[in-house]
Amino acid sequence: MTSSDVLDTAQTWMKKCKCAKTWEVSGEKWYPRRLLDLQDLRANRHDLRNARVRLVESAECPGLQTTSSGGHRFRSRRQDDRYVTLSHCWGKPGPGVTPLRMTFDTERRFKTEGIGLQELPKTFRDAVIFASRLDKVGFIWIDSLCIRQPLSSAPDQMQDWFEQSRYMGTVYQKGFLNISATASSDGNGGLFFDRRAEHPWETIIDLSYPPLKLSESDSIYRCMLIDQFSWKNLVEQAPVNRRAWVFQERLLAPRVLHFGHDQVAWECCEFQSSESQSGEQLAMTQAKRLKQLTPAFGRMLRETRLLGLPDPDLHLKDLYTYELWKNVVETYSQLQLTKFTDKLVALAGVARLFQESLFRPDPRQTYVAGLWSTHLESQLLWSVNETYKNNTGVYDNPARRRPEGGPSFSWASIDSPYGVTYGDVTDYGSRSDTSGELLFKAVDHSIGLADPKNPFGMVTAGRLLLAPRHLRRIELYKLPVSSSLPFAFRLKIEPQPKRPQQFKNFQLDAPDSDVDIFRADAQMYCMPAAYGERTVIKREQYLYCLLLKYEGSVSFTASGSGRKEGRYRAFRRVGIAKISDCTDEWGQDMLKEEVTKEIICLC
Ligand SMILES: [Zn+2]
Repeated sequence: MTSSDVLDTAQTWMKKCKCAKTWEVSGEKWYPRRLLDLQDLRANRHDLRNARVRLVESAECPGLQTTSSGGHRFRSRRQDDRYVTLSHCWGKPGPGVTPLRMTFDTERRFKTEGIGLQELPKTFRDAVIFASRLDKVGFIWIDSLCIRQPLSSAPDQMQDWFEQSRYMGTVYQKGFLNISATASSDGNGGLFFDRRAEHPWETIIDLSYPPLKLSESDSIYRCMLIDQFSWKNLVEQAPVNRRAWVFQERLLAPRVLHFGHDQVAWECCEFQSSESQSGEQLAMTQAKRLKQLTPAFGRMLRETRLLGLPDPDLHLKDLYTYELWKNVVETYSQLQLTKFTDKLVALAGVARLFQESLFRPDPRQTYVAGLWSTHLESQLLWSVNETYKNNTGVYDNPARRRPEGGPSFSWASIDSPYGVTYGDVTDYGSRSDTSGELLFKAVDHSIGLADPKNPFGMVTAGRLLLAPRHLRRIELYKLPVSSSLPFAFRLKIEPQPKRPQQFKNFQLDAPDSDVDIFRADAQMYCMPAAYGERTVIKREQYLYCLLLKYEGSVSFTASGSGRKEGRYRAFRRVGIAKISDCTDEWGQDMLKEEVTKEIICLC
């Protein structure tokens, strides 16, 4: 495909789409702090040999005037005042190769001399040239060239990164278009790939189907072929969309032009389309659309899960928005990150959108390391997805614990290739709590932020005070390889009965990296938490228990009221158990035998 073919196709989609209509009218607009100016490319579009892109500070850019609201809002006097963004895979630079990026060393040169096109990695070069051909587009924002890249974790190196990452979501949200180097796994891939001749796009065929033959003329049917995996292969599974950072770029941008391996595709809130399949054809095979963040879609997701059972939580405020959040976390948690400290930051723009636009206003609602403070108890009951290994016949969980991602009570502390299942958000009838379904209360929490101005960003420490009704000492052990389940636990009682009750139905969060939980001196606990799922009939509900490891004692300083200051026993969450009343006879009762009044701290 040539860039002019793509340009024509993209223009057709852009005309049909109304998702970026703020750029059609005059008035002040939001701009990122820095941009790459494409003026030189636009002026010399017939001979780009000497063309350069220049890094500009929006506030100093001729033609952009700061408006009274200051900061990021500008009024433009330029014809080409639109900016586009780029989604791309950074990839690994070859040995001895320093990737082109903006640092304290290169910033000045990027601003004064600019960057020659030949100096840009192929993906960036294709993107700036393509962008400069779009109507009224004068700027492009590329993360590694517009944010000063830290060379160490020293505060002066990190400062710009922290500042700009606060606005990362907004940069994509406010842009005219997001150009996605969807098929390229690093900076050298570029946007354009040769079409594969073996993929003909003939979709209307005549099919002869003798069993239905009524007469000679009836035996031929005119059919349309629809590849039901086309969007998945072209977009969802493409290299760029396996990257965690790109998730919010794609979700928040008003519209995305995907440069796929053999064609381009369009994705906006209104429709999806590709060169080989129209929006209508794609809609026939795609029930889920990523950019659909509407209560109606949340409701559809929930009803699919409920399978016709009555919903016990219809009274819950924002019920369908929580369902959307659940879907966001479950999708996002499967994606890959180079730096695990980015786990929450790379989703911060989406969390901010939920807080500011999707949830109904509630000043008490805060973000707790990837969870929401309202109905927090139920959200603590997430679990790590396992895989069934066919050749060994056992369930396997290859997840790793990464404390730099977040505290142990947050899904963000786990690096799992199969992602997590988010806790089903419910209030457990806790306002009166007469049902007895909820067996603990979240009392208070405190979250330490790497950047105090970004409540959705990187967390340096997280503490959560819980008031459990029961807390039992347990012994955790590995089962023989011949067993279909890998682990079991039993109550730690002296003396141990001859045939102690074994509990096997539980999932450890990260058994391969949490090696200390199997040590003889490990102090392990089981904390009965709640009955669930609330969306199934009562006699099929499990007793959910958090599995904890005692880690010592910590002091707790509450961020707000300070009413719970003091020292507490501290625990790390290591897994979740589901105790059935049928298979684990007496099991539920045994775990609830002792009552406690202790308040504990989860870190
Ligand atoms: Zn649209």
